[in-house]
Amino acid sequence: MTKFADLALDPRVLQAVVETGYETPTPIQEQAIPPALEGRDVLGIAQTGTGKTASFSLPMITILGQGRARARMPRSLVLCPTRELAAQVAENFDTYAKHTKLTKALLIGGVSFGDQDKAIDRGVDVLIATPGRLLDHFERGKLMLNGVQIMVIDEADRMLDMGFIPDIERIFTLTPPTRQTLFFSATMAPEIERITKAFLKDPVKIEVARQATTNTSIEQKLFAFTPTRKDRSFTEKRAALRALINAEGESLTNAIVFCNRKMDVDVVAKSLKAHGFDAAPIHGDLDQSQRTKTLEGFRDGSLRLLIASDVAARGLDIPAVSHVFNFDVPTHPEDYVHRIGRTGRAGRLGKAFTLAVPSDDKYLGQIENLVKQPIPRGELPEGALEGASENSDRARTSTRGGSSRSGRSEGRGEGRGEGRGEGGRSRSRSGAASGAPRDPMPVVEAEETVAEVVEAVREAPREAPRAEARPEPRREAERSGERRDGNRDRNGSRGERGAERSGERGPDRTGERSGERYGERRDEGRPVNRSYPGQHERIVGMGDHVPDFILRSFKIAAAVVDEAEDDSDAA
Ligand code: AMP
Repeated sequence: MTKFADLALDPRVLQAVVETGYETPTPIQEQAIPPALEGRDVLGIAQTGTGKTASFSLPMITILGQGRARARMPRSLVLCPTRELAAQVAENFDTYAKHTKLTKALLIGGVSFGDQDKAIDRGVDVLIATPGRLLDHFERGKLMLNGVQIMVIDEADRMLDMGFIPDIERIFTLTPPTRQTLFFSATMAPEIERITKAFLKDPVKIEVARQATTNTSIEQKLFAFTPTRKDRSFTEKRAALRALINAEGESLTNAIVFCNRKMDVDVVAKSLKAHGFDAAPIHGDLDQSQRTKTLEGFRDGSLRLLIASDVAARGLDIPAVSHVFNFDVPTHPEDYVHRIGRTGRAGRLGKAFTLAVPSDDKYLGQIENLVKQPIPRGELPEGALEGASENSDRARTSTRGGSSRSGRSEGRGEGRGEGRGEGGRSRSRSGAASGAPRDPMPVVEAEETVAEVVEAVREAPREAPRAEARPEPRREAERSGERRDGNRDRNGSRGERGAERSGERGPDRTGERSGERYGERRDEGRPVNRSYPGQHERIVGMGDHVPDFILRSFKIAAAVVDEAEDDSDAA
């Protein structure tokens, strides 16, 4: 078995590794470190949890051990899709380089330019950055990239999701062609493959097995049920979640609950809190200080339940998570792999529980295809859905002026495809609970359209003001000091969040299954593919042109509904 000592690393790096407590290199480290030390390009197909950060940091620190940093000319560059991931990589560098004199700087949004400028001016060996902020510094003339000897792209697939690929391409062209590139991605989408072909030179390709197919330390279970009524899906899923958490008792030390959409992250967190659980949300619309605080609380054990969106949680290294809950079945199968990979790490056992309703069948099929195994079915605890009181429906109905079936789930597409129970309790689709066949899906198009408009409006106050729904000149967004830094880290670097949204709103109202297809990723930036500029200009249906009176009247109703729902939910 290979040992770290066999890997020709700088003795100071080896010492730090020993002090960190690692005994043997992980497969990606074992395979990536030797070619990286030889100066070869590396293409690593690996995800978080495999030890990939050390697989590029350790050889980088070894190589950079010789030579000195020059002002404004970093010697190496690590690009990460999110601030959290960048901060985490920076922490890793601090750990592994603690016995060297190497310097590093972290360039991420949400931090003042001044301090970052000072660090760059002093000269850094390692620059860790998100693409948008890096280009900002470059364009302000504060940074030169022609001294970069080693460049790392971390989580390239997530960069693609977030529309960063054109920025990445540009950064590639700004660095010298002689640089060494270490490129990591969990998947190899065609666009990623294109980039690697264009910018990597004869890379050593290393693929480490997906956790989901190999990691037997995760006990996966699927809790599928048919809601009693289509519009009660969201409420009953919250009740089911509470029941599952309670049933796990003390074995649940901490958990991440994943929702597909940011607004649901908020509602689920609020609802759990109202029911006495220790829960907090994390998603891209929360300001950076709040996200950092929540994350710290979760890491140090003072917060038990982290309710998260995929983008916010992606890449975070939280080693000791006992449980992962998929409150929603992810609509992109690879997200399932990433989500459940949050548990069962570093030799610990973990549980990954997924709640599903009939409309999720298609996505479950895709997930099971990807992981090449069926997810074992579980039974919800006895009476699990009894916590989903009818009161919440009554509250909704009254505040919505008698529209008895326009519950919030309809707007998100959650209820689509679900059968309606015959007024009874939800049935488990795994059969044992009742064995009753599923009801056919009733078609309620008109109602859904109204609900979708309500939903779109409900989102509006939480998002950027409507004035922002215009393409902004690049970088302007950031300069105005609003929280667009974060948005840009998720949405790309051109401050087009508002424009992206204007493109979103149409499909949300008119597109079939809109809530699912344009779910979290829509919120956090997926839909705008920067390879196809102008896509955001496409307006479907009413696009952004919603008469003001519609917005106003629904906004009030939606706010009341929110409060009523949470009150009754807690009752
Ligand atoms: P990463 O995939 O880089 O996010 O790393 C996942 C986790 O594995 C981190 O908590 C690392 O500290 C840990 N880790 C990395 N390399 C090793 C190793 N060789 N042995 C044990 N743990 C490791």
